[in-house]
Amino acid sequence: MTNPIRETLWDPIAGFGVTFRTMFRKPVTVQYPFEKVPTAPRFHGRHQLNRWPDGLEKCIGCELCAWACPADAIYVEGASNTEGDRHSPGERYGRVYQINYLRCILCGLCIEACPTRALTMTNEYQDFPDNNRADLIYEKNDLLAPLLPGMVEPPHEMMISDDHQDYYRGKQLPIFPVDPAETAEVNPAGTVSTGSTGVATGSTGASTGVSTGGSEE
Ligand code: SF4
Ligand code: SF4
Repeated sequence: MTNPIRETLWDPIAGFGVTFRTMFRKPVTVQYPFEKVPTAPRFHGRHQLNRWPDGLEKCIGCELCAWACPADAIYVEGASNTEGDRHSPGERYGRVYQINYLRCILCGLCIEACPTRALTMTNEYQDFPDNNRADLIYEKNDLLAPLLPGMVEPPHEMMISDDHQDYYRGKQLPIFPVDPAETAEVNPAGTVSTGSTGVATGSTGASTGVSTGGSEE
């Protein structure tokens, strides 16, 4: 049974008591996008297509991520690597790769399905708000990991090994002794390391940095 005196006198006081207490607490509102707070380490943000330490792409165009996606947000078209046009170790690579962030619910099922750890998720979310639907369909170039020191933009030959399975075994870029005099002759400005070791650069000969393949996540 209700108590009319309690309803008319005490309940309003109790209600305003909550308001009064809250007035003196620190606000939790974040003034996004002017203020950005760091995410939790395992936050599911924008996807990334990873690379091997020589710059070749890890994606083999198998479409398993697309089949695993409950929102039908991923579109992949695979193609064959050829002599002179190699984008990944092995036979196939992802020629077309799109993620539609109008559909994606950031569940992470696609990265669980990927057999090569080509697809991972970053902590980034800042680019998602937009006023243009077309810009929220990310293409392969938007998703590819940046080139780290020692990586060379594909297409190029396999630099780590002629056997593509060595990539999956974790083999590193081969290291050959470098003659300091020869290096200085090639680059008198000294912008290339003149230490006692250097890194083989394969047929392109374009880079000398050492990479440990840490482009994921
Ligand atoms: S995170 Fe989930 S919804 Fe988004 S692309 Fe991957 S599987 Fe699809
Ligand atoms: S990202 Fe992974 S699962 Fe998706 S097509 Fe590439 S290799 Fe296959």
